[in-house]
Amino acid sequence: MALSPALFRRSLLFVISLLTVVGLQRPTLSIAQDVELPEYVIQPGDTLSAVALQFDVTVADIQTANNIENAGLISVGQRIKIPGFNGVSGVLRDYTLRPGDTVENLALRLDLDMETLVILNRIVNPKMVYVGQPFLYVEKDAETITDIAEIPVWRQNEVTFHLGENDTLANLAIEYDQPLFGLQTYNEWPFNLLSFHGQQVRMSAPPDADNSFPPPFDNIVVTPTEVTQGEPIAVRVTTENAQTLSGVLAENTLNFITTTDGEAHLALVGIYNFQKLGVYPFGITATDQNGRVANFETRLRVFSGQRGQQSIQLPPEKSVLLDPEILSTEWQQLIEITDDFSFTRLWDGDFVFPMEFASERTTTPFGVARTYNGESFNSFHGGLDFAGGLGTPITATADGVVVLAEALDVRGNSVIIDHGWGVYSGYWHLFEITSEVGQEITQGQTLGTLGSTGLSTGNHLHWEIWVGGNQVDPLSWMETDYSIVTTERTESQPIEELESSSGE
Ligand SMILES: [Zn+2]
Repeated sequence: MALSPALFRRSLLFVISLLTVVGLQRPTLSIAQDVELPEYVIQPGDTLSAVALQFDVTVADIQTANNIENAGLISVGQRIKIPGFNGVSGVLRDYTLRPGDTVENLALRLDLDMETLVILNRIVNPKMVYVGQPFLYVEKDAETITDIAEIPVWRQNEVTFHLGENDTLANLAIEYDQPLFGLQTYNEWPFNLLSFHGQQVRMSAPPDADNSFPPPFDNIVVTPTEVTQGEPIAVRVTTENAQTLSGVLAENTLNFITTTDGEAHLALVGIYNFQKLGVYPFGITATDQNGRVANFETRLRVFSGQRGQQSIQLPPEKSVLLDPEILSTEWQQLIEITDDFSFTRLWDGDFVFPMEFASERTTTPFGVARTYNGESFNSFHGGLDFAGGLGTPITATADGVVVLAEALDVRGNSVIIDHGWGVYSGYWHLFEITSEVGQEITQGQTLGTLGSTGLSTGNHLHWEIWVGGNQVDPLSWMETDYSIVTTERTESQPIEELESSSGE
């Protein structure tokens, strides 16, 4: 719940009355010329059918509303009216919801009424929005383009505390500048209630604050905002004062690393490639030195990685390796290694390909669903494959420590490097291994040579990246900017180390 009770009741009434009027059906399109409609500005590459798809209307309706006879004749910069949003005026813009965004605080930030946003986004229940949701709004003054990300966010959320050992309701009220009487009524307590350790105290966050997060949270950033199967996600949380953080994002535990000043908390997770699509809780719990606990909870959608399928026929002598027992024993070994979390980040800067000309020699991308010998598609390709000549040097993608260097049944001669912070890289089917467990390895250093050992049908390198216990697309890991978690000083990282590496 993110509103003061009065505002909540009002918005609830509003939604109920809206549902009564609209029913749950799509509004009937009124395309009379005098009806006020929002406008869309045609962008380079737009077609009328793409625009129709974006706003969930038909091309014919757009043509009627704008007197366009030939759907192929539109020009960049042209303004067209979008039917279906009767009574809304202004220029349409889109945005992707971020943590802390609610329909209420967006309405405040954009100086629009909630009704407009509800109509534009066909929202049935304003409480059911999620991080990553595509969101439409209108710019009233078409000449100015407001970047929604730069508009200060209002703090409209509610926060729940549990009183620490030395807390009283009075000192909590003073600390967060709330009238004690207000806390009593807000929580609907009897007036003779005495405060107690562990007592749950709900508080509506002060309206004059500059963002939408409840104290002690200052800001919560998720990169990328669109959370996708098989992709890594970086989370950065800042708090008003030192806190210990824990959290869950789409069923992944967040292991937070706190910066030296104690105010930023960083985490990396990898979304499982077969994670069921849908909306999941994203929650963070902060505990301060007095044991006082505060929660932030929102929702977040996991989008499809859309990675396709592949069928593989194995020769009989290799098919024996598909024995479920061999597969699961080896898998267990990998899980145990990659679940280990080391608080020291050993890498700096970007990861690089593990062999020369790798990008031109990619044969199988990450994540395609696989079937072997006609069985069901119950596994996926956990890495990237590169074709290459037998004996081609294979090099470390980034600095780290070798944590596995041995012959495995399915993966053949294998090397795994721990890069710290739950990030690992794996190199399978090697011809020979030239590194050993415990060895500190630097980016570009040779760890083995390319081969075809284990469950492999020809000379190639299979290369994996693991983040937070899941395999992720190595290309995404290399291409996405995760600097929100890699630019700050953390406890486990000596200052000299950071300074010496900053010039690279
Ligand atoms: Zn492979």
